[in-house]
Amino acid sequence: MKVTVDMDRCVGAMECAKCLNICPSTVFAMYPKEVKMFEPSEEWEIIPELDMLCVGCMKCVEICPGNAIEVQESEVEAK
Ligand code: SF4
Ligand code: SF4
Repeated sequence: MKVTVDMDRCVGAMECAKCLNICPSTVFAMYPKEVKMFEPSEEWEIIPELDMLCVGCMKCVEICPGNAIEVQESEVEAK
């Protein structure tokens, strides 16, 4: 599956993280937007980095308060 997150619509990765917690396939990961030496990051973003493991359950789409997640069949699987 192809999973995309529109970070402009995400209400805040650290504050919400519902997608990360609900996904049964651990597709999502959270990363700092900027990595600074010896300083904690203030801004985080959600990356659907393991979308090859997505089972298409749509739980992330349903729970996302910002309507930021899109799950589509990838072209390889659709053939
Ligand atoms: S559709 Fe289901 S398996 Fe796929 S990313 Fe969303 S929660 Fe995870
Ligand atoms: S569920 Fe939606 S709003 Fe919440 S962290 Fe994930 S992408 Fe952002």
